[in-house]
Amino acid sequence: MNTPAVRFAARTVRVKAPGKINVSLDVGPLRPDGYHSVASVYLAVSLYEEVAATSTETPGITVSLSPGSTLDLDAVDIPLDASNLAYRAAAIMADVSEHATGVHLEITKRVPVAGGMGGGSADAAATLLACDALWNSGLSREELAHLAAELGADVPFSLLGGTAVGLGVGDQLSPALAKAKTHWVLVTADFGLSTPEVFRTLDRLREAEGVHADEPTGVDPHILAALRGGDADALSRILVNDLQRASIELAPSLRDTLGIGESHGAIAGIVSGSGPTVALLADDSVAAEALAEDLQHQGLSALAVHGPVPGARIISDTLL
Ligand code: ATP
Repeated sequence: MNTPAVRFAARTVRVKAPGKINVSLDVGPLRPDGYHSVASVYLAVSLYEEVAATSTETPGITVSLSPGSTLDLDAVDIPLDASNLAYRAAAIMADVSEHATGVHLEITKRVPVAGGMGGGSADAAATLLACDALWNSGLSREELAHLAAELGADVPFSLLGGTAVGLGVGDQLSPALAKAKTHWVLVTADFGLSTPEVFRTLDRLREAEGVHADEPTGVDPHILAALRGGDADALSRILVNDLQRASIELAPSLRDTLGIGESHGAIAGIVSGSGPTVALLADDSVAAEALAEDLQHQGLSALAVHGPVPGARIISDTLL
């Protein structure tokens, strides 16, 4: 009697994970290990990456970018090999999962590449969660966060979402209560900035000025209070990013972007993380939409978002 061949049942798990802005970012001096300690308040915003992880009969990991991406994929430089952060996340999950199969990752890119919003980190967070579900690895959120920290300083936050204080290199996260929304306009640039280069530039500027930065110990509690209350006005007075002047040194046009934003109604503006994305704070959602529209008329690429939003979440799980 012929035994019927067991048909391979492919399954796709689709996960979305948010990009982030740093509402505050204090950067310490260069440490002997080459890193910098930071103290930062992270805010997850409503601009999401999506990763669809499909099990494959052929072993191995493959990566593609979805034509549904809102970024111009011809204009960005994203590796599709083992150096892609999503690939690395799947490889780590395959190592710890008993029932790993081959997997294809299709990434829908919406967060600007090398924009200081942790887009690659969001892909990695989404992939961890997708492969965890695909392979029933049964890891706790804590174990996933541990793997996330191995992939990069911003990956644990994209998994967690919401609002959080980050210490260490940004990976020691404490969730902060902030249910109230704040509204922002993101102005994206048509170029990227390398995060390590921005840090090096800050070190160089500080050295030239003879400034010795202190190790950051914590974040300004007023920032957390303003976020908790959704108090945009209070927040507008205390946004801080130590990396901003280094980003502006490398890309002076960012100063103009901040100026244009403020002259069109933003109540404050800040370079997000290492930039070059600029986050402009608005009074409310109506003001943010109007500001985004105005800036688009000025020829800028602007998008209204809000935060906090949840971290990486499964949005579908389909047997093909
Ligand atoms: P961060 O703020 O965490 O430093 P970023 O948002 O400034 O990150 P990313 O978009 O995450 O920057 O990517 C930085 C670089 O990493 C890119 O220039 C790209 O070559 C590489 N990279 C690796 N994997 C990815 C990915 N999945 N998406 C985008 N870039 C990736």
